[in-house]
Amino acid sequence: MAEKLRSFVEVQEDSHFPLQNLPYGVFSTAEEPRARCGTRIGDFVLDLAALEEASLLATRYFDRPGLNAFMAAGQAVWTATRQRLQHLLSAETPDLRDDTALLARALVPVDRVTMHLPAQIGDYTDFYSSRYHAENVGHMVRGAANALMPNWRHLPVAYHGRASSLVVSGTPIRRPLGQMQPGDAGAPVFGPSQALDFELELGFLVGPGNELGDPIPVSQAYRHIFGFVLVNDWSARDIQRWEYRPLGPFLGKNFATTLSPWVVTLDALEPFICNGPVQDPEPLSYLRSKNHWTYDIQLEIRLRSAAMDTPATVSRTNFRHLYWNVCQQLAHHTVNGCNLRPGDLLASGTISGPVPDSYGSLLELAWGGSRPIALPDGSQRVYLEDGDTVILTGWCQGNGYRVGFGEARGAVQAARPITETMGEMR
Ligand code: CA
Repeated sequence: MAEKLRSFVEVQEDSHFPLQNLPYGVFSTAEEPRARCGTRIGDFVLDLAALEEASLLATRYFDRPGLNAFMAAGQAVWTATRQRLQHLLSAETPDLRDDTALLARALVPVDRVTMHLPAQIGDYTDFYSSRYHAENVGHMVRGAANALMPNWRHLPVAYHGRASSLVVSGTPIRRPLGQMQPGDAGAPVFGPSQALDFELELGFLVGPGNELGDPIPVSQAYRHIFGFVLVNDWSARDIQRWEYRPLGPFLGKNFATTLSPWVVTLDALEPFICNGPVQDPEPLSYLRSKNHWTYDIQLEIRLRSAAMDTPATVSRTNFRHLYWNVCQQLAHHTVNGCNLRPGDLLASGTISGPVPDSYGSLLELAWGGSRPIALPDGSQRVYLEDGDTVILTGWCQGNGYRVGFGEARGAVQAARPITETMGEMR
């Protein structure tokens, strides 16, 4: 039935944003620089604050620079709002379709908007939920026999990331300076990272969340997931390698993390639910649910050097490869009483598939530098070079339509000169 939905706004068949999607984001325009919430239909952004003002929406969530209040409102409000928007944008509904004055204000061509982060994101947690990724990295670090740490199949491993350096798609990424140990021996040096990498991830933004001390059971976790964005967890492997023992990632990770601007809701993803991988051994009871489900989301990594006109696809994978699902991640995160707040970001960890052209990082695609990948401009990559643009994209394929995420894009800029970082200490 879903494929019959049609809007009065024209939507191409390969568009990520048909009436079946209706993701939420935050935007501004040159004419109206006040950031407010909108949804996306085809090549247009629909201004939801304008719809509230015109009383076509009865809500009061969208005239704000973040979706946090809407995220806090919960699933019943999300679903009712989505149904109302599908109705208003339907080809059969005249209310918005025939109101030319309102349409001129509220329906903005996408090339005239500036997108912002979709919420005030208070906390960011990064999981490590792809078994293929964990095995690949473990293989390179500890050898094939000890690829997975003993805890890995018993709990969704994660660390607390840094929320202040989350940036929206399109923000340039400055190559970080840092301390590293070339050749993994001898004295450390300071300078620009020589091993700048991307990580293909999908993250979800938390809905109502929980009070401190009050865990969210795995069976209720989906009620606390507002929706998903693409995440590029940029990583400086050389800085990371030298600093990470014993407390884990720090400056090798927290210089920038790119998010796609449109949050795709669970209602939009519902038709693409599929079985997750078999979990062996069976998880402890607080991580166990009747169905181990996930989503069938096709994912691609594209790379364009400064010399290339069009990006080349360097990896194709799928969200369904993740071993731990989002409900298990959320239940595990809160089982000790840790509180999650509306707009918090929980990212999946690098999503690698089972075969080499489905890996989610250059570390794996070029296998620690031993198998450089070739680009169409004749150059090779072990890690990213200045001027490289990385584009993550993803979508669910329906019957005659796509529910997509758009893209998370970032171009690598040269590091700051080291002298700029020196100064008198007094
Ligand atoms: Ca990561």
